[in-house]
Parts: sequence; structure tokens; C-alpha cells
Amino acid sequence: MNDCLFCKIVAGQIPSKKVYEDEHTFAFEDIDPKAPTHVLIIPKEHVVDLKNATHKDAEIIGRCHLAAAEIARERKIEDGYRTILNVGPKSGQSVFHLHVHLLGGRDLHWPPG
Ligand code: AMP
Ligand code: ZN
Repeated sequence: MNDCLFCKIVAGQIPSKKVYEDEHTFAFEDIDPKAPTHVLIIPKEHVVDLKNATHKDAEIIGRCHLAAAEIARERKIEDGYRTILNVGPKSGQSVFHLHVHLLGGRDLHWPPG
């Protein structure tokens, strides 16, 4: 999609610290990390967010989570990590290309703020 920050990152038009890539998904370091591991996993194809997702997006949303699990395994943070989808302005969502946050490498409190 034109003018989407994360589509531009996938296309290499905006630099990112790539962590993982496969045919369908792309993962990179969050520019403002909230934990020792803070990676964003996104579909290569533009999906706005969970609220706007439909059944045709079910597989890609699953793939993003499985990629997060793989990254967590590689980073040896499987003793406690979290995957998060922020949805809507009250959640703090600021980028409207669906992204799974992978947070780990420190104690994570519950409930999140
Ligand atoms: P959200 O608030 O859930 O929409 O998350 C958007 C995330 O994207 C935030 O954690 C930002 O720090 C992150 N972010 C914004 N711009 C960039 C960028 N150019 N490269 C990497 N992460 C970014
Ligand atoms: Zn996009």
C-alpha cells in the first residue's frame, strides 16, 4: 500500500534491522524497544489491523505468531515472552499495518498497562 510505513520497510525503501523473513512474513527490531527483545512481525501483504481482518487473513495472522515463536526459540527467551496486537487508538496502536509485537528477555507483568 502506498504511504504505509511498514509496507515501505518490507520493500526496503525505509531501513530496518531485519530479524527474520520468509515468503509471507517479515520481522524487524522495534525502533523504540520496550524489552531486551522487542521485535515486530508483519505480513508482507498489507493488512490494516485485527479489527479489519477477515477470514482470508486467518492464515497470515497465524504465520506471524508462528514466526514470533520461532524468533523466541532462537533467542532462548521461551521461559516467558508475550505476543501482542494493539488494536485501536486506546490500545496505543500507531501504525496501521498489522504487526505482532514480540516482547521478552525480562519479567513481564500482568495485567499489562
Ligand atoms: P503500535 O503502537 O502497536 O502501532 O506499534 C508500532 C510500533 O512500531 C511501535 O512500537 C514503534 O516503536 C514501532 N516503529 C515505528 N516506526 C518504526 C520504524 N521505522 N522501525 C521500527 N519500528 C518502528
Ligand atoms: Zn502496509
